[in-house]
Amino acid sequence: SVALSDFDPELAEAIENEALRQEDHAELIASENYASPLVMAIQNSVFTNKYAEGYPGRRYYSGCQHVDVAERLAIDRVKTLFDCDYANVQPHAGAQANAAVFLALTTPGDTVMGMNLAHGGHLTHGNPSNFSGRHYRIVPYGLDPATGLIDYDEMERIALETRPRMLIGGFSAYSRYKDWARMRAIADKVGAIFWVDMAHVAGLVAGGVYPSPLPHAHVVTSTTHKTLRGPRGGIILARGQDEAFYRKLDSAVFPGIQGGPLMHVIAAKAVAFKEALSPGFRDYQRQVVANARVMASVLQQRGYRIVSGGTDNHLMLIDLADKPYTGKDADTALSEAWITTNKNSVPNDPRSPFVTSGLRIGTPAVTTRGFGTRECEQLAGCLCDVLDALETGGRARAAVIDRVRARVVELCRRYP
Ligand code: PLP
Repeated sequence: SVALSDFDPELAEAIENEALRQEDHAELIASENYASPLVMAIQNSVFTNKYAEGYPGRRYYSGCQHVDVAERLAIDRVKTLFDCDYANVQPHAGAQANAAVFLALTTPGDTVMGMNLAHGGHLTHGNPSNFSGRHYRIVPYGLDPATGLIDYDEMERIALETRPRMLIGGFSAYSRYKDWARMRAIADKVGAIFWVDMAHVAGLVAGGVYPSPLPHAHVVTSTTHKTLRGPRGGIILARGQDEAFYRKLDSAVFPGIQGGPLMHVIAAKAVAFKEALSPGFRDYQRQVVANARVMASVLQQRGYRIVSGGTDNHLMLIDLADKPYTGKDADTALSEAWITTNKNSVPNDPRSPFVTSGLRIGTPAVTTRGFGTRECEQLAGCLCDVLDALETGGRARAAVIDRVRARVVELCRRYP
């Protein structure tokens, strides 16, 4: 064996620098987390060498007896975790899980209703640049501009008018509970399939701190690497449907959109699900939510507007539309202070998705490293200091960024 630093020093340096960045910067991107050392190590296992097209017990290749064990463990554990009777753990990522749902349950050209990307939806819920928006007739629903909350009456009105084949619940940037029962009732009124993409809140659902969509949805997808804290990947789950429905989902994943499953990742999913079934996981999820609440209240006290007025989950969207700077400016200045966030469109954003008038922040990663409400209160204060400084500019701004960076590093080093 040869050391990476000898064989490929450029790449070794990039990895080393990324490790340092992940240590010393405060990670507030709502979709990111730190996977456990076990989850990281298993992705480096011999399973990466194995082809296993098909499903456990019915593969197209020989020698699958050991990877079958891993995939069955992942399936059984995730079914226990979310109390459901169907699971497919093969989707390479969230977007693939979602593509499989479209392929299994709809026909190109169908009308599909999803949350507007600019109001907190995801690309795969019908954005024009995504396969979903290109191959389907998408009717978006969104937020009530006055409250920043989902307007269910308007959703129902649009559904009755357009009669979608499928209604999508789930989001990338909504900080409140979603009313799954109400959405299922709307879907039932028009005979639509109700699919929930719970990628953002899957960990919170598993930890019992966010309402589970499984009693209401025909099908549920998720990523495994956000609040769920597993390896990068996707899953499809369902409860109470018939075998034919489950077969359609399985064959949409393979051979529909994927070839060989990533068995090293599936093995890491099995371990992550076991971690999520362990007692400490609920405490972690409770802390994620408590930390988000504290950050939202500091931001509000300092005069920043949170879309919908607060948070019930792990994230919030800061509306900067009335500020003299953009979401992109804020994101850049915070990066200089080693606070990592992402610029994000706000409802009815006049700026392009590349510039935006908002900032999305979330607490899963900082909570994993051990931040409690006190640290999150301090971190939110640091964030506000940088945003305040954007209005003054000049030398004062540079001095604030330097001061905040030192404070952030000190906070991070207390929780390596
Ligand atoms: N669904 C939602 C709600 C998401 O927020 C995301 C990612 O941000 C995805 C799906 C896509 O997941 P992936 O990036 O793993 O394809």
